[in-house]
Amino acid sequence: MTQLTHLTMADALKGLAEKQFTAVELTEAHVRAVEKARPLNAFITETPDKALEMAKASDARRAKGEAGPMDGLPIAVKDLFCTKDVLTTAASHILDGFQPGYESTVTSNLWRDGAVMLGKVNLDEFAMGSANITSYYGDVINPWSPGEPGNWPRKLVPGGSSGGSAAAVAARVALGATGTDTGGSIRQPAAFTGIVGIKPTYGRCSRWGVVAFASSLDQAGPMTRTVRDSAIMLRSMCGFDPKDSTSVDMPVPDFEKAITGDIRGLRVGIPKEYRVDGMPAEIEEMWRKGIEWLKAAGATPVDISLPHTKYALAAYYIVAPAECSSNLARYDGVRYGLRVEGNSLNEMYENTRGAGFGKEVRRRILIGTYVLSAGYYDAYYLQAQKVRTRIKWDFDQAFEQCDVILTPTAPSGAFAIGEKMDDPIQMYLNDVFTVPVNLAGLPGMSIPAGLGADGLPLGLQLIGKPFDEETLFRVGGVIEDAAQFTATPPFVA
Ligand code: GLN
Repeated sequence: MTQLTHLTMADALKGLAEKQFTAVELTEAHVRAVEKARPLNAFITETPDKALEMAKASDARRAKGEAGPMDGLPIAVKDLFCTKDVLTTAASHILDGFQPGYESTVTSNLWRDGAVMLGKVNLDEFAMGSANITSYYGDVINPWSPGEPGNWPRKLVPGGSSGGSAAAVAARVALGATGTDTGGSIRQPAAFTGIVGIKPTYGRCSRWGVVAFASSLDQAGPMTRTVRDSAIMLRSMCGFDPKDSTSVDMPVPDFEKAITGDIRGLRVGIPKEYRVDGMPAEIEEMWRKGIEWLKAAGATPVDISLPHTKYALAAYYIVAPAECSSNLARYDGVRYGLRVEGNSLNEMYENTRGAGFGKEVRRRILIGTYVLSAGYYDAYYLQAQKVRTRIKWDFDQAFEQCDVILTPTAPSGAFAIGEKMDDPIQMYLNDVFTVPVNLAGLPGMSIPAGLGADGLPLGLQLIGKPFDEETLFRVGGVIEDAAQFTATPPFVA
């Protein structure tokens, strides 16, 4: 039989139902994998005791015929989701020792459906980054890094900000992981590690109990090894939540049912503005292959235009820091985590925030307070909001001509730790294809499409109409079948 840690969620559910193994056995195998994968630095907190306790409870439910849709499946949780009585850090020093007294809605939903928590995984500090190199808890290593594990000559980044989630899933340490995506943080790391990731429509998943970065852009979503597994996991994660006023009261479809393999007659938009300068030839080539696969399955490619794409990053890097500066004002040394004393209240605030936030977070708070300040609000923030509306209109118009949009997920594959790091702008450019999707609130999915010349995974992105995740699953399934991506990273636990 396949090693338990190499199963898909769908196969693991089957094995559990057929009593080939128990949830405890499945969890024990994953707990060992968590230990073995320590060189990747994917976990901030391991919770093996809790995992085994949850697995035992799962076996008991199954014995009584009460198993839920994810019962017994071991997953990792991005350390941005509050988990009751379990350290929650957002990968920041400022949340030192913070153990929430409550559970996020998304993780509650997963536990309600029987999932098992292996631990909390690493990320960029407050989810700000594209390479998982801004964490207070250290860099995460991409399991695709070539060479001897632990003795890597060139350490590759797993992407970010959900880098720990991506590394854990790709290295067969967890069957799936939660991620969050404000500008690409689920899709780009999924692409860099050869897994599937979906950012659902804004409002699908409750943001309650998810540490806020930029509230009008943040969405939670699943990261898994197959399209079907993402469908299983997303169904459990989403749903209306009265505790989040932006969560949408709509029925949750059975996303798995959408994976029919039939895309005949579907119109696939190919945006001309996504052919950006300096994009490597192999990314163009992968995109061209993707178009061919969909054509061969009976879909029709249509050329579309998203004329305001070139302003998306500029608008994002005003809106996101603006919201972050406001959201992060709450970390004042009084209510949560770290406190560094001073001679006055103001000095205590300054000392705490100065010591607690890393460089990238401080940069964003500075930019955010600047663009929101009285003298510059109209010139920057208001203008960026107008651009955001234009970007949304671009998509509205495009979706009159097509049913789904196909693009590369990122303009490059995984790069090495140390590259692109001295210039924040270089790093920001990596999100050029993912950021517009958040600005417009649309669903987006990354599917592994193949390996580049250097043997590293590349992803294709699908963008859908609002609340039409089903089309993403349908088309994603076809890409997955055509790509036959079976490669595994050099480091597998
Ligand atoms: N890389 C982007 C940023 O740094 C997006 C991060 C995210 O989606 N959380 O803001």
